[in-house]
Amino acid sequence: MTIAENLAAVEARIAAACARAGRPRADVRLLPVSKTHPAPVLREAYAAGVRWFGENKAQEAAAKAAELADLPDLRWSFIGHLQTNKARDVAGFATEFQALDSLRIAEALDRRLQALGRGLDVLIEVDTSGEESKFGVPPEEVPALARSLAAYPALRLRGLMTVAANTTDAAVVAACFERLAALRARLQDSLGVGLDELSMGMSGDFELAIEHGATCIRVGTAVFGAREYPPG
Ligand SMILES: *Cc1c(COP(=O)(O)O)cnc(C)c1O
Repeated sequence: MTIAENLAAVEARIAAACARAGRPRADVRLLPVSKTHPAPVLREAYAAGVRWFGENKAQEAAAKAAELADLPDLRWSFIGHLQTNKARDVAGFATEFQALDSLRIAEALDRRLQALGRGLDVLIEVDTSGEESKFGVPPEEVPALARSLAAYPALRLRGLMTVAANTTDAAVVAACFERLAALRARLQDSLGVGLDELSMGMSGDFELAIEHGATCIRVGTAVFGAREYPPG
């Protein structure tokens, strides 16, 4: 299968899920996750129409962004846990950061962004599964973190992101998505601001996420094929 064929298959699944949920297709953004794949593969995806890439390692992403700097209208979303010493890399090329999980990283990013004269859309990553391996802020700590972000003018809070429980039990996965959607609704009320983005759903569970209100689905394997790399 070529990337164009994979994209067409994913697109058909998205359209079917939107139809089932009674949602317009335009409400759901497909974020192809290109981590571990080399720049020539991303060029192929770009030729097939992709204009956003999701990456989760700062150095790998910065290197690819530099290699593909000739491609117009290309945007990068950073979706992985970030260390403060890598904030500078990400501030330089990303349009969006979906895995904000501490004030320390907010502070580091804001400082770098201000120096560069750039802004960054951010989503708070929420731990909706309670699994030990997961990153993200516990739901009860999200409101305080969201309020504190007002102190960082280069960061624009756009919504919430989660990685659901790693299980084939659809009810458990759905509960994670429901937790994220409910938290966003409560936050919008208490902060009095619109939070447009609900980033949830990956290759194995994005239809379920769309049915629970996802506005961004992060899809790697179903677009690019299996990744060859040690986990972690
Ligand atoms: C790798 C990754 C994805 C994509 O996973 P697939 O199962 O390959 O679609 C989505 N979200 C995050 C945070 C990831 O790290």
